[in-house]
Parts: sequence; C-alpha cells; structure tokens
Amino acid sequence: MATTASNIQETENLPEIVNGLRHLFEDPDFQAVAEIKKASGKPVVGHFPVYSPVELIYAAGIHPIGVVGAGNQIEIAHADSRFQSFVCSVIKSTLELGFTNRLQNFEGMLFHSICDPARNLASVFKRNFPDQWIEYIHFPQNMLTEGSLDYLESEYRRILTRLEDLSGKQVGNDEINEAIGKYNRARHLMRDLYQFRQEHPDILSTKELYTLVRAGHILSVDDHIGLLEKAKILVGKKTPLVRDHIKVILVGSFCEQPPLDLIFAMEEAGLDILDDDFLLGRRWFTADVPERGDGVRNLAESYRDGSVISAVKHDSRRKKGEELVERVRRFEADAVIVSVAKFCEPGLFDYALYRKALIEAGIPHLFVEFEEKMWLFDKIQTEIETFVESLLLD
Ligand code: SF4
Repeated sequence: MATTASNIQETENLPEIVNGLRHLFEDPDFQAVAEIKKASGKPVVGHFPVYSPVELIYAAGIHPIGVVGAGNQIEIAHADSRFQSFVCSVIKSTLELGFTNRLQNFEGMLFHSICDPARNLASVFKRNFPDQWIEYIHFPQNMLTEGSLDYLESEYRRILTRLEDLSGKQVGNDEINEAIGKYNRARHLMRDLYQFRQEHPDILSTKELYTLVRAGHILSVDDHIGLLEKAKILVGKKTPLVRDHIKVILVGSFCEQPPLDLIFAMEEAGLDILDDDFLLGRRWFTADVPERGDGVRNLAESYRDGSVISAVKHDSRRKKGEELVERVRRFEADAVIVSVAKFCEPGLFDYALYRKALIEAGIPHLFVEFEEKMWLFDKIQTEIETFVESLLLD
C-alpha cells in the first residue's frame, strides 16, 4: 500500500511504511507531486543535488522538490544528443525528464555550481525550456575570505527575489526564520535516525533509513517531520537481526544515487553501513541553522562554516582524507566503501585523496562504481561478499 501523509500515523509497522514510500521517488511521472500541488495550491520548484537552500523556496510559498534524476525508471532517448557520452547518468536522466514532459508540474528548476556537467545542465535547461523558471546558484569557491560570506548572502538574496517573482509573494525575515526552524527540525530528526543506525545497524537498515530521508525530497517539510517522528518511535520497537557483517562507512554517493536495490544488495552482501553520504544536501548542516536574526545571512554562514564535508564544496580548511580516517576510528568501523557514480569527477577526485589516506592509515577499502540505470547487482554483490569474507577471516 502506498504510504501517504494521512496513513503514516495510523501504521505501526516501519517496514510497511518504508515499502509504501518508494512510489514517492521511484515514479518518474511525479504523480505524488501533482497531488501535493493540487492539495496545496502552491507552485513547485525542483532542485538538483547536492545542497539547495530549500528554506528560501519554502518561505516564498513554493513547494521544493528534490529532483535526483530518474533512477532506472526511464529510457534516455533525447538527452544523449545534448551531452557527451562520458557524463554521469543523473545529468542525462534529469534532462530526459524535461524532454518527456515529466516536469510539467514544476514551475521551475534550480541548479548549483557543483561540477561542470551540472553547470551545463542549467544552461541546456534554460535554452530548451524557455518558459520555465530556471535558476543557478554560484556557490563561493574560496571559504577563507570574509567576502565569501557577503557574496553568498547576495547570491541567496538574488535567488530569493527570483523566487518572489515566481510566486508573487514578498518574503519577510520572520518567514525565512520559520522555514529554517522547520528544516532544522527535519535535519535534527534525520541526525537522530543516523545516530540510531550507527548504534543499531542490525535494527535500522540503510535501505530503510535511505527511504525515510528520500521521502523528504517529495513530501512537504511538515509531513516529512511527521514521518521521521513516527519512524523514531517505531525503530525502538523493531527486533535486531543476527548476522555476521562488517562495519563500514560509505562515501562517494553524495549526488547521483545508486538504485535502492543496490543499497539492499550491499547490505545483503554483509555490510553494516554506519555512516554514508547518500542524499547529503537535505542533511547538509552539522548543527541547527540559527533561527533568529537575519535568516539569509545565517543560511550563508551555515553553508560556509557549519556544513558537512563534501566533494562539491571546495573548502581548503578541511582535510578530507584525514577526516575520513578520523571518522573510521571514531565509529570503530572495519573498512570504507567508496561508492562513486560512473563519470562523477568530484567523486573520483576525492577518491584519490581517500585512497592515499586510507592506505597510509592501514584501513581497508573497496571501490565500487555504480550507475543509476543498473538492474543487475550480482557482480558488485559478489565483490562485496569477497571483501567482507577477506576481513572476517583475517
Ligand atoms: S554525479 Fe558528480 S558529475 Fe554528476 S552531477 Fe553530480 S557531482 Fe556532477
């Protein structure tokens, strides 16, 4: 049965809720978006990964929807002619959604300066869909100067004005702070569930946690908060599974997402994933964004100084390899899985840093490459099983 905001509260079985949520993000026709739009009467803006300031979209009276490609649900027929063959799948499948009129319920799309293909995707959208609201956020590249903060604040104010143009609503600071408060609550609950999965990966699986987080890309923030609160109660009632797994941290899947069944196959192959970077954008901040004061400035400051480490945020203050090693030690993980989308340059650049640091620290790791459009996972599953056995028998 499809899980809806109204039946979440009536269901006491977490696996049942989770299974019913898949339709939200596996339906390339975005039927759920059409229904949400009809019920709320609000315009819809889709945002491409990784991080997007959804608070500004929400405060402008617009429903933000995370558009993370089309998974393995559609054929690429038109997008291939606009991009080279060596471009990641999420770029092409997102464009294909546009060409096949599957984004017709979206008034706009928001992109970000995460990599060259994403930058080009925004331009290709603008050229091919001239009637749609298309915007692009240029994030600062040098976090060391005070100017980076002023710059990002002004970039956010520019986007906010464009959002106001789209919705016809003037946004006050109180409304931005209210939006920050709601998304803080959702992020807080996601952090709690991540903490729970870290301590009890035998109770809350990554497949379940992923689905709970991904549902927030479609549901309203209020409904997502209700879902996460319910999940927090229900995980305490689940019984642990007895199994012989190794504990790992997974990195590299921050933008394009592997198929959900691949995540399941990884767990079946013997991994207890204690931490990951799936769907990182909606979990971007390490602590709450301040809910008082200038909301736009606070969002900019939290982006610069209070966010997770990421391949798409250039921050020379952070040592990615060393931080990963430190996290492995802190989580008492046995190994690292570096799971990168095919042709993802930021992910592959980071792998070079991770690989060096992990080898120097004597921490085993396995590199896995995935594509959205995968149906068969036997090969990866066998590779992981071999890796797991080698560690268990070590
Ligand atoms: S998967 Fe990598 S290359 Fe593709 S859009 Fe995302 S960050 Fe860019």
